[in-house]
Amino acid sequence: MLRILKRIFLLLLVFVAIGAAAFYVLYLRRPPLPPAPPHARAVPAIASLPGLSACWIETGKAVSRLSIGMTAGSILVRHPAGDLLVDAGNSSRFSQDVSVYPFWRRLKLRSLAGQLNPEVPLPGLLRRIGEDPAKLRWAILSHVHLDHVGGLMNLPHLTVLMTREELLFANDPGAQAKGYVLAAYANALPKPSAPTLQFEPKPYELFDESADLYRDGSVVVVPLRGHTPGSVGIFVNLSPTKRFFYVGDSVDDEIGFEQRVGKTLLLGDSDHDPALANQIVSRLSQLHEMVPALAIIPAHGRSAYKKFFPAGPLTCVFGQPR
Ligand SMILES: [Zn+2]
Repeated sequence: MLRILKRIFLLLLVFVAIGAAAFYVLYLRRPPLPPAPPHARAVPAIASLPGLSACWIETGKAVSRLSIGMTAGSILVRHPAGDLLVDAGNSSRFSQDVSVYPFWRRLKLRSLAGQLNPEVPLPGLLRRIGEDPAKLRWAILSHVHLDHVGGLMNLPHLTVLMTREELLFANDPGAQAKGYVLAAYANALPKPSAPTLQFEPKPYELFDESADLYRDGSVVVVPLRGHTPGSVGIFVNLSPTKRFFYVGDSVDDEIGFEQRVGKTLLLGDSDHDPALANQIVSRLSQLHEMVPALAIIPAHGRSAYKKFFPAGPLTCVFGQPR
């Protein structure tokens, strides 16, 4: 009897060890990355424009033990020349939207991005901070993965700024088959033949191309190709000292650029080009070292949002005292 109990105990021990190893490999292990090659910095001239502010519109957050501190949603940039929505979080009909996929893919999408579903649809949250969704000028997406574009399904008439390469990816049947990009969402975006965002060969910070959306230096977009073929990062300059760089899913969280480590296996699974994606992490790490006062905000990194928006979700930060 004692021998059998001993064996059962040993067997349990083996299972626990295998489980712990799998957990470590999937959720915790982050490969160290080499430093990015040296790059000259194009220091931007930033003016203080009256009336500029940014607001954190959190549409979903995950509280499960496996994804502590994950968030999703939008950042609203209020600009005198018309307001801009940066990313849109999940659709309020996420479960129905992914029901086109076979069981296992559906399960994967629901257990990852599906944790970040909105309780209140995006237009309702915008109204809560006094924003009329009908008066938005533009939306820009860091990339077309479903947990960044879905919220736009509730804002169907909004002009979305997107490059040709990312629109081609949104319409790629191979990408759609994996489930990270939905055909129904791609249909709501501009056609690849009529892109709404184009870069100029004008260096900005550590990037060789850029697009200055308002032509006043307040919102400048740069390519971050890797996580998806047309991923972009968005610099928002509220004042010379209040700036953030929204980097979408180029990096999981602050640990990525602070310690120069790649993504966990689970989150890296959605990287289109893992080698390019790692180069971007190294570049962000270099930027963080060179410009430590710049807040780098990863789309799902809740603690980074909390540092820039200390009063929490549904609050705004202003460039100048009101
Ligand atoms: Zn993504």
